[in-house]
Amino acid sequence: MSVVFPLKNRVGQVYEPFRIRFLEKEIPGLAPDEVLVKVRASAICGSDLHIARGRHPSAPLPVTIGHEFSGDVAAVGEAVTRARTGQRVCVEPCIVCGVCDACRHGDYGHCEHITYTYRQGNGAMADYVVVKEPYVYELPPEMSYEAGALMEPLSVATHAVRRAEVGLGDTVFIVGPGPIGLMTAAMCRRAGAGRVIVAGHAGRRLEMALELGATDVVDTAAQDPAEAVYRLTGGKGADRSFECVGKEECLGQALMALRSSGICTVVGIYEKSPVQLPVTRMVTHELRLQGAQGYCWDFPIAVAAARELPMESFITHTFPLEQLQQALDTALDRTSGSLKVVLRA
Ligand SMILES: [Zn+2]
Ligand SMILES: [Zn+2]
Repeated sequence: MSVVFPLKNRVGQVYEPFRIRFLEKEIPGLAPDEVLVKVRASAICGSDLHIARGRHPSAPLPVTIGHEFSGDVAAVGEAVTRARTGQRVCVEPCIVCGVCDACRHGDYGHCEHITYTYRQGNGAMADYVVVKEPYVYELPPEMSYEAGALMEPLSVATHAVRRAEVGLGDTVFIVGPGPIGLMTAAMCRRAGAGRVIVAGHAGRRLEMALELGATDVVDTAAQDPAEAVYRLTGGKGADRSFECVGKEECLGQALMALRSSGICTVVGIYEKSPVQLPVTRMVTHELRLQGAQGYCWDFPIAVAAARELPMESFITHTFPLEQLQQALDTALDRTSGSLKVVLRA
């Protein structure tokens, strides 16, 4: 595999709500510290659906999409020492400055200038993506490209679970069995949680929660989730909860299900904010509420953990890159039964 610069590249862009087009771009060459990745698999994320609706709080249209991806290293800059041509990799798609206080404290997830490759016109619904070498991670030999593309959302779940300090034997309550909620359930069990209760609409997603390590599921159409948690725990409530939907009602459930001094971690993206909270309950039960976003040193943990998780079962649909519009329509269609839609090249 050898490439010649300038290199032609197609990049998928949401240019108006629900509409995709491909931009024809040219990659002129690589800076010394850059790596060219030939994209093999690129997954559609819940955040891409917020973008597709034109309602992502921090990614206004038009914007190129694709930040969950894997591929082959196709070329490397002259100062690159670790990545090699032909290597199978996934990519941490953030761009940080390296010099702000947060970066110098190793807390690059809070870089004052953080951005993501896709927001800079370098989306991964594309033939190629150019990234900096430190953000490239080798895939284990047995991991497929499709699973490799899911190391990004698995890192988001890993980050949330680490922030929540889930402990041995804890009871955890998760609202929302989307990909992030399911991956959070899986990582909570791996972190030692004794009981993981997942709430959502009955169906395949709740079944999958059980396959990934949840101990109990709650059909939110049939019962109040917080009451169900109290019943399942003999009146104690959950030690930790995660809101993985992005809705006020779900945040209320995640808070109300907690025991005294419990911690709720919000992972969902809110199209509508601010929201109302059960504040009296938070005071009387001394509840803690925190957010979790993105990742910071979480990729290697996710890649290691994924070896023991059935990552392939997240992938419900695959399309060739050319069919990005259909892929996005499928992901947006609530009747499609999609969990992860992956573009292949
Ligand atoms: Zn994502
Ligand atoms: Zn910084």
